Formats: sequence, C-alpha cells, structure tokens
Amino acid sequence: MTAHMDTVPTERIVPVIREGIVYSQGDTILGADDKAGLAIILEILTVLAEKDGPYRPVEVLFTVGEETGLRGAKAVDVSHFKAKMGLGLDAAGDPGAMIVHAPSQDPWQARVHGRAAHAGANPEAGINAILVAAEGIVHMPLGRIDAETTANIGIIRGRRATNVVPDLVELYGEARSRDEKKLEAQIRAMSDALQQSAQAHGATVDIQVSRSYKRYHFAEDAPIVRLLSKAMRSVGVEPLLVPTGGGSDSNVLIARGIDIIQMSLGMHAVHTNDEHIAIDDLETSARIVLACLISD
Ligand SMILES: [Zn+2]
Repeated sequence: MTAHMDTVPTERIVPVIREGIVYSQGDTILGADDKAGLAIILEILTVLAEKDGPYRPVEVLFTVGEETGLRGAKAVDVSHFKAKMGLGLDAAGDPGAMIVHAPSQDPWQARVHGRAAHAGANPEAGINAILVAAEGIVHMPLGRIDAETTANIGIIRGRRATNVVPDLVELYGEARSRDEKKLEAQIRAMSDALQQSAQAHGATVDIQVSRSYKRYHFAEDAPIVRLLSKAMRSVGVEPLLVPTGGGSDSNVLIARGIDIIQMSLGMHAVHTNDEHIAIDDLETSARIVLACLISD
C-alpha cells in the first residue's frame, strides 16, 4: 500500500464536515490528496493488527515530494520491498475507478537568443527574443492535442527592462502522451515551431528535453487489476478501468518493477479550495483495500 505525505502548498487547513462530507473552510485546499490515502492505510494497519486469521503479507510506502515531480518515489530504493504489486491510494474520483493507463511526461526548457540593442536609440540593431518566442508559441500545437496527448507552456522568463531589446527569453513547457510516438512527434512540433521562428528572425534557440516519468498500461487481466476488481465486487462496487492524463508515484514504481495500481478514494476537486471527500467513500475505499488483503 502506498500514499504520499505531501500536499500542494497551503496555509493552515481547518477541516469541516457538512452532511457527511469533509471540506476545508473554503480558503485552502483540504489535502485529501493525499491524506485520504494515509488515513486508509493507517486504518487498515490497525484493523490487521487486531485481526485473527490470515491475510496477505503487507508492506507500506509513504512517499514525499509527489506533487513536486514524484521526487520521493524516484528516491526510493525498491530493493527494500518484496512486493511485486500493490495499491496506490492516490486517485481522485468515486470509489470503483482504477487507473490502468497513464502517460509519459517530457518537460522541456528552451532558451531563445536574440540580440540586445537600445530600444529607443537603435532598435533596428536588435533581435527581440521575446518576439521570436511569441511567434514560435503561436505556431505551436498546445493544450489538448488528442485523446491521449497534451502539451503546455507554463513559464516564460524574459529580461527586466523596457528600454532594452531583449536578447534572451527562457520558456518552460511540457508534453505528455500515453503513446510514445505521439509524444515524440509533439515534442518535435514544439521544437520546430521555435526553430522556424528563430530562423526567420536571425535568432537561435537551444532546447533541452528531459523525461520526468514513463507511461504504463495495465491489461485487463493483469494480476493486480483482477485482484482489485474482485475486491471491489466483493464489497458491492463495480470496477471501472480508466485512463488518465496525469502522472503519479505509480509511473515511477511500475518502471522499477512493482505493479502499483492507483485506485480512486472519493476525493474530488483536488488542488482547489473546493476539495472534498465523503466519509462514506473513505470507508468504502478502506473496505476495498481490506478485501484485497484478505482475498486469495
Ligand atoms: Zn496525490
């Protein structure tokens, strides 16, 4: 069983319960992502400690830095674990959903080099790096590319004065896809758009692409999918196998040989001030986890 201990950054959270649903007071996130997962794991350990009768051997992994690039999972020495499969308690949505298909993510950073000049006295001598970047961005495919591919520019950093034609601008973006070929094509399209704009204006661009995490895909008959589906049915929940556009600790752990499937715990509107979770859903999720551990 695994969950992450960090949340997106926040001030002091004051949880309130209204009609069986836990919210924040409305001015912070709730942090159910991923304290819901921690709560369920601690509850399960308590239940198992008091239980007579057999259950599967259990290992627990609490990670840090999930929201900031899966850094904790990436730092884990998986040789400590005997488990070959497990449950990730870190997905939003109603109980019953499990994430069977997730994308690779490639973040990239580009530096556009123009030429500085005095903006008033001699703008003709300059090559405006911000303008070059802007034209590149306009010609870039961005946002929702297709059902399994997305792309984004998140940060632009230019120079600091208005009286200088900027000679440098830095862009930070990313692309994701559940299909490696599409991801490759998307990265190329973004890079080409910048290169063509640079060429048209006599500027240059250097682009660095990295791999943050790798895609995965569980088949319907994968042992962990079958185990979890059976456990869900045993507590009256119909399993739903869903794809996602996001990454999780699973991307890292699966690549290292532990088939961790993410299951939805009932949290909604995560990373917003409306984040909430029904206590009933927490309990249902805990029952599903327990059923996984005591089934054969
Ligand atoms: Zn999370």
